[in-house]
Amino acid sequence: MGKIKNESIITLYSKKEKCCGCTACYAICPQKAISMVRDEEGFEYPQINGNKCICCKLCIKVCPIKQIK
Ligand code: SF4
Ligand code: SF4
Repeated sequence: MGKIKNESIITLYSKKEKCCGCTACYAICPQKAISMVRDEEGFEYPQINGNKCICCKLCIKVCPIKQIK
């Protein structure tokens, strides 16, 4: 049996504080692998579908919070 690829190897943010929910990553993904998922407080955070992601890292490049650092 092959390994099931259900987890993305790309990490968009480690904590919620590291994501402002701007949806830039969601908008740029050529694979439409990112969906914005609403949390219990009503804020939307991106979630990567590891089965669709091709690891192009465009979402990492476009993220404004990662560019600050
Ligand atoms: S690495 Fe590329 S394919 Fe994967 S979620 Fe980011 S933009 Fe989409
Ligand atoms: S681009 Fe960065 S800050 Fe914007 S939604 Fe994606 S992970 Fe969050």
